[in-house]
Amino acid sequence: MRNDFPKQAQIVIIGGGIMGCSTAYHLMKNGCKDVVLLERAKLTSGTTWHSAAQVRQLRSTESLTKLVQNSVELYSSLEEETGQATGWQQSGSLSIATNPDRLTHIRRQVSLSKAFRIGAEEISVKEASEKWPLMRTDDLVGAVYSPSDGRVGPSDICAALIKGAKSKGLLVYEDTSVTGISTKNGRVSAVQTEQGEIACETVVNCAGIWGRSIAAMVGVTAPLHACEHFYLLTELMDSVTSPLPTLSDHDGHLYLRDEGGGLLVGCFEPKGKALDLEQLPENFAFDLLPEDWDHIEPIIINAIHRIPELEQTGVKMLINGPESFTPDDRFLLGESPELRGFFLGCGMCSVGIASGGGAGQALAEWIIDGEPSMDLWSVDIRRFVPAQNTLRTLRERSPETLSLHYAVSFPGRQHKSSRNLRLSPLHSRLESAGAEFT
Ligand SMILES: Cc1cc2nc3c(=O)[nH]c(=O)nc-3n(C[C@H](O)[C@H](O)[C@H](O)COP(=O)(O)OP(=O)(O)OC[C@H]3O[C@@H](n4cnc5c(N)ncnc54)[C@H](O)[C@@H]3O)c2cc1C
Repeated sequence: MRNDFPKQAQIVIIGGGIMGCSTAYHLMKNGCKDVVLLERAKLTSGTTWHSAAQVRQLRSTESLTKLVQNSVELYSSLEEETGQATGWQQSGSLSIATNPDRLTHIRRQVSLSKAFRIGAEEISVKEASEKWPLMRTDDLVGAVYSPSDGRVGPSDICAALIKGAKSKGLLVYEDTSVTGISTKNGRVSAVQTEQGEIACETVVNCAGIWGRSIAAMVGVTAPLHACEHFYLLTELMDSVTSPLPTLSDHDGHLYLRDEGGGLLVGCFEPKGKALDLEQLPENFAFDLLPEDWDHIEPIIINAIHRIPELEQTGVKMLINGPESFTPDDRFLLGESPELRGFFLGCGMCSVGIASGGGAGQALAEWIIDGEPSMDLWSVDIRRFVPAQNTLRTLRERSPETLSLHYAVSFPGRQHKSSRNLRLSPLHSRLESAGAEFT
């Protein structure tokens, strides 16, 4: 037991990944005085440390895009503010299309980017090839370039956020696992840890893939499930010389960029793999999951198709890390309708670094003001009902969510998994009359 461990705080944040660090930073920046961040292992040791950390701004709604724009503003200025390097690099992103549907999709993104003030533009295949000389282009039908996207050092950005927050009084306790949460009169009243209990008014669940278990401590719905998530790092390549924009070859389920003199090849594969948390050791920290070369082989074939030089390039490392996905590929933000004072900032669906700066800011404002500062319904925790929170449902749905991440979107798309959780008495009659269910 530590002697300096607080007995009470106004706000307790659980989890020291990007969401916990960003929320803490923004609470302190907005004048909160009495905030404690608890991390079961070390800061960033869950998912954040091994993130590919691309920051692509264009999202499906204006407010989700705004959150990433706020991240970019923060990440590009935090080093100056705190003196801690963040690894922010504005290297841009390049999306390519190999078929007319994808071309329509990326052209729509250009239109949206105008509305959302991002500045993406359609470029010719020849121009795309000049931006990515290693890329095979004979099967491309179009491309879009977005110069203001970038990437960041995921652990560095957390170090900078924590430095900024600590300078304003944030208390951080590592190696301190939250083991229970108490409630009183329908609201949060305390958290229990191995170091002792902290009485508090507000708890913020930023526990990443463990977010559902933390919520379950107080019977709160937090529908998220872990999936395995992959990228590989190649050996050095002489032809990789300058920072390259992140290449999105979504028809091949791929993204690629330079990393350490070679390439980073990441994917959202067409058939994702759910991960049961029971498979992880209790002390899982700065850890990875076992390699699965059979699973990743089709992606490697696609990558070699796009970058032929990869055929002669060795693989330095295959990263397989856990990440949480929700039933609709959008994260969980805001105060639970089931318990006052219990806020969520988790289930980040592999956009946690891109969205984390802005999402932490939005969550901090929500905690302070009692309501969100913009329309955040698409990520608001209140959109889910308990029926969507069973393990069976989530285990089926989360790999589908992952695999649709790069799919061409169209109005009215329906998920195939975890359907018919609740049926109306008229269901079979409607079905036989040809109804579509959504
Ligand atoms: C391979 C891979 C590539 C990715 N690439 C990108 C990318 O290019 N761009 C992007 O935006 N995102 C990317 N992501 C996703 C991004 O990394 C995550 O969304 C983000 O890091 C999640 O942050 P978090 O704070 O929600 O969770 P975490 O970083 O996991 O933090 C949660 C913390 O909570 C702590 N915790 C859990 N239980 C307790 C407890 N009981 N008590 C105290 N603490 C607890 C954990 O130890 C952990 O440190 C990628 C992810 C993976 C796996």
